[in-house]
Amino acid sequence: MKENDTNPGVTDVEVEKAARVAFRGADAVAATTGMASGRVGAAKKIIGDKLLEKATETAFKYKDYWWGVFIPPLVGMGAFFFLLVSLILLFMPIQEQGFNGGSPSVYALAKIPPEYLQIFMAAQKKYDVAWNVLAAIASVESNFRPDPGLSVVGAVGFMQFMPTTWSGNRDPLARDDPSAPSYDTDPKRIASYGGYGEDADGDGVADPYNPWDAVFAAAHLLKANGFHEDPRKAIYAYNHAEWYVDKILDVASTFTSEMLPDATAKGLPVPKDVYLITSPFGNRPNPYDNTRTEFHQGIDIGAPLGTQVLAVNDGTVLSSGWNDGFGLEIVIDHGSYKTQYAHLEFSCVQPGDKVVAGDVIGAVGSSGRSTGPHLHFGVNVNGTWSDPEVFLGAREEAGK
Ligand SMILES: [Zn+2]
Repeated sequence: MKENDTNPGVTDVEVEKAARVAFRGADAVAATTGMASGRVGAAKKIIGDKLLEKATETAFKYKDYWWGVFIPPLVGMGAFFFLLVSLILLFMPIQEQGFNGGSPSVYALAKIPPEYLQIFMAAQKKYDVAWNVLAAIASVESNFRPDPGLSVVGAVGFMQFMPTTWSGNRDPLARDDPSAPSYDTDPKRIASYGGYGEDADGDGVADPYNPWDAVFAAAHLLKANGFHEDPRKAIYAYNHAEWYVDKILDVASTFTSEMLPDATAKGLPVPKDVYLITSPFGNRPNPYDNTRTEFHQGIDIGAPLGTQVLAVNDGTVLSSGWNDGFGLEIVIDHGSYKTQYAHLEFSCVQPGDKVVAGDVIGAVGSSGRSTGPHLHFGVNVNGTWSDPEVFLGAREEAGK
């Protein structure tokens, strides 16, 4: 047996063995910092104080042992931080993005039975799916009747679900048979088969003829099909026809004039220090003729001539050019909504350009029908102008 060079009488094998014992787990740290502890003490019994000391010393000469010393604590620390970050993410409020309908129109209050209106509102709250879209589906599918009668395709209930969509495709209890449709009513089994049917009123039964259950299931389906990113696409998933999507959105727009992105912009359209709203969204006196009122479909920001205009969110430039009264105007498509920047002095983007939030896209001007330099900023959701102040989160910021 070859004796150790630095420590006559001790073999390499013994050194290695001692080092391995010393470096096990947390004791590796203790051994390297000289703070011998419990398990190192056990090693003492086997090979003695001196040997342990030498083993540690020798170990430092070998690259392998270096890794042995430093990797376990590093891995431990890595695992600890991973767990910590996971826990923080788990308990962080998730920034849900969706679309919420505004307050009901007079027409909505007349048309939608109040006991159902509260269901659409409750489903919107849970799933971030606009209540007016849910109400439009109920209106088109069943005219707000829990049991609209036998459907030619075998759809069932208040929201006219196909039995397999309600129960899950592989649920043996589900049959899309127009003459004898059958569906599952056990919420747990439905969930296990990936169906959308749910028991929203808590009576233990997932019943498509129960408006609570049916509306919540529809909201669940729309959310699962990306309503928060693209309402059109999600509605298309409900019934695969463009005319159907148009019809639902048409009806939805009669129930409320606003559909608000339930998300705030990543940034303001001008630098924060010049962000001053000189004319809010909504009805206002005509600036040219005070005897008339007009609907102002955006906000005016009275920033100085030449102030940089910024994209409020990531998107693609839809248009950049002259638009009558709006003068030089840029429209950015953000997928589920569009933003409009008008009365510009100049634009530095082209249609098709990709922009990210905060990108300079042009400069404040007074082009078109304008009484002085300002930026007109608008937010359009599915053809409906929404209040940009809500979208920009400016109300919360200003403490109003
Ligand atoms: Zn304006």
